[in-house]
Amino acid sequence: MSVPLSELQARIRKFRDERDWMQFHNPKNLAISISLEAAELLEHFQWRSFEESEAHTRDPEARREIAEEMADIAIYLAELADNLDIDLLAAMETKLEKNAAKYPVEKARGSHKKYSDLE
Ligand SMILES: [Mg+2]
Repeated sequence: MSVPLSELQARIRKFRDERDWMQFHNPKNLAISISLEAAELLEHFQWRSFEESEAHTRDPEARREIAEEMADIAIYLAELADNLDIDLLAAMETKLEKNAAKYPVEKARGSHKKYSDLE
């Protein structure tokens, strides 16, 4: 199932407004919430080795929980973009183009160096 981002943002707005939560959803609080949900995603990997982390992502129950944390992050991010009138998909496209220019394939392929350290 796939719906347009604008449709999801309308549902997020409805969910929030039915509960009168806009008063709490200022940019600072939403940015904090995105970070907290990202930390909840990280909890799935805390203390696990690389191999254990890989195995964890193949466990059905863990996958369900990981998907929920990813959704929490995405919902707050989509709401923040909506509230700030930022076209999130356009911003992602622009950033991907910027990243492609910063990390040309011939210099960045197989390297984890930061763009400023690429030769
Ligand atoms: Mg969560």
